[in-house]
Amino acid sequence: MTTTAMQTTQIEAKALPYAYDALQPSISEETLRYHHDKHYAGYVAKLNELIAETPYASESLEEIVMTSDGSIFNNAAQAWNHEFYFDQFSPTPQAMPTGALADAIDRSFGSFYTMKSEVAKAAAALFGSGWVWLVEEPNGNLSILSTRNAGTPIRHGLRPLLVFDVWEHAYYIDYRNRRADAIASTWNVIDWKKVEHRYKKR
Ligand code: MN
Repeated sequence: MTTTAMQTTQIEAKALPYAYDALQPSISEETLRYHHDKHYAGYVAKLNELIAETPYASESLEEIVMTSDGSIFNNAAQAWNHEFYFDQFSPTPQAMPTGALADAIDRSFGSFYTMKSEVAKAAAALFGSGWVWLVEEPNGNLSILSTRNAGTPIRHGLRPLLVFDVWEHAYYIDYRNRRADAIASTWNVIDWKKVEHRYKKR
């Protein structure tokens, strides 16, 4: 191993599963171009730089998130969170949860609308940058979780189902300081079919 490069698994930024202008007017093309191509891809590029020639270089993104700390964790978790975030939207979303997920939401929150208002409250209460998640606890109960900066539920033994990015870079172009409006509008493009798929996947 003196002359050949160590075998590495380069972490790759995933392409958006829809067109850049597909989520308008909830999320503009300009926001998606910056958010996906600059912010998300930037975390992935920085991560690859940080893990080069370390034991992390041969691990999957999730393995890195679960075991790292400091800058490597921050960039890996931001990469993981954004991959999860971008994947949950659709220009033709299923508007409401159905079946077992709808039942679990009713059981845990009382109603779909109460769950939505808990997300709004959590997003308003989060000081600074972070994420607001719908998660499944180990006992099957669903709850709303706020994480600061790059924080991610998978490090806390919780299963993420849905996430709102409440870093300013996610909404400032379209909504300026109006975070609550950005969150309210994001619901319009969340594809509950995808969230149900995450819920069923075990
Ligand atoms: Mn973001």
